[in-house]
Amino acid sequence: MPINVYFAAGAARWPQYEAPLKAAFAEAGLDVALSNAAPDPAAVDYIVFAPNGDISDFTPFAGCKGVLNLWAGVEQIVGNQTLTQPLCRMVDPALTEGMVEWVTGHVLRHHLNTDLHVLNQDGVWRNGAVPPIARERPVTVLGLGELGRACGRALAALNFPVTGWSRTAKEVEGIRCLSGEDGLTEALAGAQIVVLLLPLTAGTENLMNAERLAALPEGAVIVNPGRGPLIDDDALLAALDAGHIGHATLDVFRTEPLPAAHPFWAHPKVTVTPHIASETRAPSASRVIAENVRRGEAGEPFLYEVDRARGY
Ligand code: NDP
Repeated sequence: MPINVYFAAGAARWPQYEAPLKAAFAEAGLDVALSNAAPDPAAVDYIVFAPNGDISDFTPFAGCKGVLNLWAGVEQIVGNQTLTQPLCRMVDPALTEGMVEWVTGHVLRHHLNTDLHVLNQDGVWRNGAVPPIARERPVTVLGLGELGRACGRALAALNFPVTGWSRTAKEVEGIRCLSGEDGLTEALAGAQIVVLLLPLTAGTENLMNAERLAALPEGAVIVNPGRGPLIDDDALLAALDAGHIGHATLDVFRTEPLPAAHPFWAHPKVTVTPHIASETRAPSASRVIAENVRRGEAGEPFLYEVDRARGY
């Protein structure tokens, strides 16, 4: 009997994923019947899922052994009361690479004050200020998970003094690791650039509120590819207008797409990017999905299973 895998991640993604998933299942030696058509729920062994996909009620999938999310973030599914099956999030090496490139690029943009020259090709020779070198520019990464660690390491390799902050204590070579509330105060003090790579949970929502923004040094820059609600939008706008925060580069928002009338679009100290920091890539993500199906069939623990109580 083949293993029944239901691709419920939305019709738009099916053309992108069908061939890579089939190839990955074959590579893993799995006999899989893969379908994106609404199946007999009782016959489904695994569900490949993405928010805004094809399922909101998981109750009928009584025999399903695992729900395999295509996204790294699970805030849109983790609280679903009908989901009693194990839930795995996506850790995709290519997604991580893309995030490292996006974060490094935007940190370097601010570090080098690239805009001053790139946006002003006007005949004025602005040689007043040479940028400091990276080792003089402390960067803090909030979140030391798959993405935060990779970005922190890449920035440390460029000589930025990197501080990382997480819920539980960590040791990561080349990164000063802090945790807990006291650790956050220390991580923010002195950070000239702050990168947010936390999941959205009850414990991280509005983490960057007025008080924490005020704890950053004057002129600090925020780079947020994590999730929009990690920051209190009004507090950020007030801190930007007061000149306390120098710039915010935001990839994620409370409402996406960011409404055209939102003040972030027109704000001279805000850069909006449309949730493109990084994306799950079908070929490598399919191999992760196949490995988890293999594990499920072999009775081995899943990779990247979400702790439902923790929320990530
Ligand atoms: P992980 O689950 O691997 O890491 C999460 C990190 O956040 C961990 O270090 C964890 O601490 C820390 N954390 C969680 N809650 C708290 C808290 N209350 N206080 C302090 N630290 C906390 O996630 P990833 O690195 O894979 O992804 C991070 C997020 O990036 C995703 O959830 C998603 O929102 C976002 N993302 C954005 C994309 C984009 O294109 N913009 C693309 C992909 C992801 P601990 O280690 O102690 O558990």
